[in-house]
Amino acid sequence: MTIPAHPRRWFGLFCLLVVAFSVGGCSPTATPSTAIVTDADESATITPHPRPPVVATGLPPTTPPPEATAPPTATDLPTIAPSPLPTASLTPSPTPDRNIPCSSRIPDNGLLTVVTLTYGLSRDYEPAGLVGLSGYLPNDVTLGYPTELRRAAVTPLVKMITDMQAAGLQPRVLSGYRSFSAQAIARQKWLEKEPDRANILSAPPGFSEHQLGTVIDFGSPELAEIVGQEDIEFHTWFYKTSEGRWLLDNAHKYGFTLSYPFEAFEITGFFYEPWHYRYVGVEMATQLHEEGISLTEHQLATEPPPCIPDSP
Ligand SMILES: [Zn+2]
Repeated sequence: MTIPAHPRRWFGLFCLLVVAFSVGGCSPTATPSTAIVTDADESATITPHPRPPVVATGLPPTTPPPEATAPPTATDLPTIAPSPLPTASLTPSPTPDRNIPCSSRIPDNGLLTVVTLTYGLSRDYEPAGLVGLSGYLPNDVTLGYPTELRRAAVTPLVKMITDMQAAGLQPRVLSGYRSFSAQAIARQKWLEKEPDRANILSAPPGFSEHQLGTVIDFGSPELAEIVGQEDIEFHTWFYKTSEGRWLLDNAHKYGFTLSYPFEAFEITGFFYEPWHYRYVGVEMATQLHEEGISLTEHQLATEPPPCIPDSP
C-alpha cells in the first residue's frame, strides 16, 4: 500500500484502520442483516427500502486497508466527451442565518449548502422539487427502490447513467433523498444495536447531506466479487469497481462531486465514502476536481459561518 506522506493523510489512514479493525466483521453479532457501515449516513437506506440492503464497509481484521490514497484510475475505460448540462448558480446564500443554531437551519434552494457534523439542518427542512427516479431510470439501475432526488439533479444524473451504460458499465442507484425522520429511525436503530459505534455507523438526523435531496449513493455489480460477499451493497472497495473508477474520473463533468474523499476526514467529519456523490453543478464540481479538494473544504474556506454550530 502507498504510505501517505502528508500528516492529514496519516490521520486519514489511521481512521481507516480504526474502521477496518472496529467495524470489519469483528462484531460477533454481525450478520448480513445487521451489517456494518462506516458511511456515516448510509444506514438510513435500510429503512425506506422495500428490502433491507446489506450495508458493510468494514474490512476483515486480517485484511490490509485499501490503498485509498492512490485509487486506481480508469485508464482502461472509455472516456466520454463532456456534454452540455445545466449549470447551477454558484451564488452563496445571500442572508446567512448567523443567529440561529445550525440544527434549526432551513437553507434556500441553492446547491452549496454546507452540511457537516457541526452544520446541521432543521427537522422541518425538506427540499423543494423532489421527484421519484423510477420515472427516469430503469429498474436495473434503481433496483426498484423508491429513490427521490431534487429535480435540478435528475437530468444530469440520467445523462451520466446513460453515458456510463454506453461505456459498458452497470451503475446502480442505491439511495437518494432521506428525510430527517428517516435518518432518525436509522440512527435509533444503530444506537440500540451498537451504541459504542453509533457515531461511525450513522449520522444523527439533521446532519446528513442526503436530506438536501441532491445526493446519490452508487453501487456496482462488481462489488460482491471484490469484497467476497454476495449481498454487499456498500463497501469502501467501491473505488476498485469499474463504476467507482469511472465516477471518480468523470462525475464532475456532470456536476457531481465526491463528498467524502479518503483524505478529507478531518475536514468533513465523515469516513471515506467512495459511493456518495453530491450534485453541485458542473462549474463547481469541475473546480473542486481540478483543485483536488472536497466541497466541504471549499465551503468552510470561502463562505462565512451560516449559523451557530451545535455542540458535537
Ligand atoms: Zn451517502
